[in-house]
Amino acid sequence: MEQALAVYNSLSGKKESFKSLLPNHVGMYVCGPTVYSNVHLGNCRTFISFDLIFRYLQHLGYKVRYVRNITDAGHLENDADEGEDRIAKKARLESIEPMEVVQRYTVDFRDTMKQFNALPPSIEPTATGHIVEQIELIKKIMDEGYAYEVNGSVYFDVLRFNKDIPYGKLSGRNIEELIHNSRALDGQSDKKNPQDFALWKKAEPQHIMRWPSPWSDGFPGWHLECTAMSTKYLGTQFDIHGGGMDLKFPHHECEIAQAESVYKKSPVNYWIHANMLTLNGKKMAKSTGNNMLPNEMFSGENSIFNKPFSPMVVRFFMMQAHYRSIVDLSESALEASEKGFHRLVDALQKLDSLEVSENSSGFELESWTQNCYTAMNDDFNSPVLIAHLFDAVKYINAVSNGLHKINAEDLASLSKTIRLFFNEILGLQTPEKSEKDSDISQLEETLKLLINLRDKARVNKDFETSDLIRDRLQKIQIQINDTAEGSTFKIN
Ligand code: AMP
Ligand code: ZN
Repeated sequence: MEQALAVYNSLSGKKESFKSLLPNHVGMYVCGPTVYSNVHLGNCRTFISFDLIFRYLQHLGYKVRYVRNITDAGHLENDADEGEDRIAKKARLESIEPMEVVQRYTVDFRDTMKQFNALPPSIEPTATGHIVEQIELIKKIMDEGYAYEVNGSVYFDVLRFNKDIPYGKLSGRNIEELIHNSRALDGQSDKKNPQDFALWKKAEPQHIMRWPSPWSDGFPGWHLECTAMSTKYLGTQFDIHGGGMDLKFPHHECEIAQAESVYKKSPVNYWIHANMLTLNGKKMAKSTGNNMLPNEMFSGENSIFNKPFSPMVVRFFMMQAHYRSIVDLSESALEASEKGFHRLVDALQKLDSLEVSENSSGFELESWTQNCYTAMNDDFNSPVLIAHLFDAVKYINAVSNGLHKINAEDLASLSKTIRLFFNEILGLQTPEKSEKDSDISQLEETLKLLINLRDKARVNKDFETSDLIRDRLQKIQIQINDTAEGSTFKIN
């Protein structure tokens, strides 16, 4: 399918035709988790969104180097370079080593991503593993005159930078607005201006996470690690940088300023931001307590929902929204996704036992395939893709009920394409069956066979047989409903 991929670029605020810097290669950096607590479902949504993008780019034939970092130092409690380091705080509260905190939550993160069938990135660098690179980067920024040292800490001079290169391009904020909206500095701050941000912080005596540097024993600022690691592994200019929308400002804006101050060019061609998952209409966040952990969802052990939802149902639920739309987590929406997911899985499972005819009828396979690609090429529009997959489900059900026909060649092609989109691109897996499920599925298969025979009888106007099947089933509390797509059954 030759067709251009269009990507919404947060930097331009427009959909743009995607062109990689090097032919057939894509460099993609996504800000990873700060590993001081279990990832919540909101965090997962962002990483699953980028998993879809990673999968689709690979499917298009790009060799993708996907770098997603682990923030294991430097992320303070608030964005104004104040408060404790999140990991150091957790270590203090639990009386364990910071690296024990990091290990525990990195393992949890990887395990969770695996449950969601998200592919691992190509490189997963850590902030603490790149202290040398970060110190070198600070030196370069200082050499360019865009950073200053005060009492062993180093700050990026936003106003000085803005004199040469405009600051605020990504978030659309101009410097006057930023100055107007900033809180005045209290007497304690070392910063020249409140807009400045820390590149290096001198560690207080009790701060356990510390490294030597030319300025002090201290630790790097959070924004710095992403510039140091993205440029190290992807170069000073690369294709895609992603993260959640909430990282646009200040984190990504600061990354742009750091890179531009040294390399004098825009570091990233396409900035992609995933929208938020909300719970009760509010952003899911660790800090407010408005959150749910993946395992609480999978086990059903939570106070919000009445039943558990599996990782694949949750992934499907997320894929049913475009990555740039807000999604609210609600029981009714999850239940609807669960039903849809099972309908899709049922149809996929029917594919191998469909009866083939000489000719196909009732479905335009080629234009359907094209439509699936058009959806994904339109800024990774997974909900539209899924709507097309349901068109195929209707067709599969109609063939299974004898209402439409499919020839062997079309069946092979439909099976291949629908499985490709379901498994490889959307990253979904068909659930494994338990013994109980297999009993139920045997009963279901038997019923489907009876219904199939009844539908055929109806098509042949053999109403004696069709009524007999319906009435006998009704006697054992199984009700048949005739719909446009064929007949369905309900066990009362
Ligand atoms: P953090 O561990 O806080 O650095 O966040 C990791 C990633 O999760 C970042 O890309 C955030 O933008 C993203 N994130 C945080 N909260 C949400 C949410 N409610 N919905 C979607 N993504 C989120
Ligand atoms: Zn980052």
